[in-house]
Amino acid sequence: MAMAGTLFGCGGSAATEQTTVPDAAESESTQTPASSDKVVLLIDPGHDSAHPGATGIGGVKEEDLTLQLGEMLKEELQQYSNVEIYMTRETSACPYPDAASSVEDNRQRCAYAEEIGADFMISLHFNSGSGDETANGSMVLIQNTNYEPTYNEMGQELGNLILSNLSTLGFADKGLQTKDMTDDVEPEQQTYPDGSRSDYYAILHHAKLHHVPAVIVEHGFITNQEDLNRISGTENLQKLAGADAQAIVTYFGLTK
Ligand SMILES: [Zn+2]
Repeated sequence: MAMAGTLFGCGGSAATEQTTVPDAAESESTQTPASSDKVVLLIDPGHDSAHPGATGIGGVKEEDLTLQLGEMLKEELQQYSNVEIYMTRETSACPYPDAASSVEDNRQRCAYAEEIGADFMISLHFNSGSGDETANGSMVLIQNTNYEPTYNEMGQELGNLILSNLSTLGFADKGLQTKDMTDDVEPEQQTYPDGSRSDYYAILHHAKLHHVPAVIVEHGFITNQEDLNRISGTENLQKLAGADAQAIVTYFGLTK
């Protein structure tokens, strides 16, 4: 895995926030008619320059690939009329430079999802075999069945659509995964407010606390040569963006 529950963090470099927050009304349950008929999606290019992810063959960096892919996915989806697209970052910089810890950065990315009234948060990643060059394939990490059980079902449906599309590009389908929080964190981090076991991955955990369904898409292993051959280059990334976009279009019934 290229990530753990405490990764994705942001430390202390100085930069201004890249994202803008719409009117507060959009985060309330009673939305204005203008926004209520549009699907609101938050694309999260995993990691950033302050908190790098995996390094692949030839020194390719996960955080660069996720940003390129995220921009392409945004452009694909902006062709549709009934959707609003937001990004957690559009540069290599950490979006929350004032966050004191990686956990706080994660929480802020997910708080932003709630602020914009996101219907779904889609976190883009590439995987690492951690020394195992044979590890390969695509997987989608989804929220567990606790606290907001419908999010698990939503993640299954969208995740399976994404995996199916990625498999047509040649990636092995390694399926959907959930992971519960481990015992080695503070007790309040181990459970949701209802006492049920929390999700391990920080984005999935904090998105749920902010009432947003989320998935983490691990598109393939940049430490595996065959997967990397399907990932490297603008043309390949465009195909990955198309695969993600088509799944999202199908799931939400987006129209042009
Ligand atoms: Zn990652």
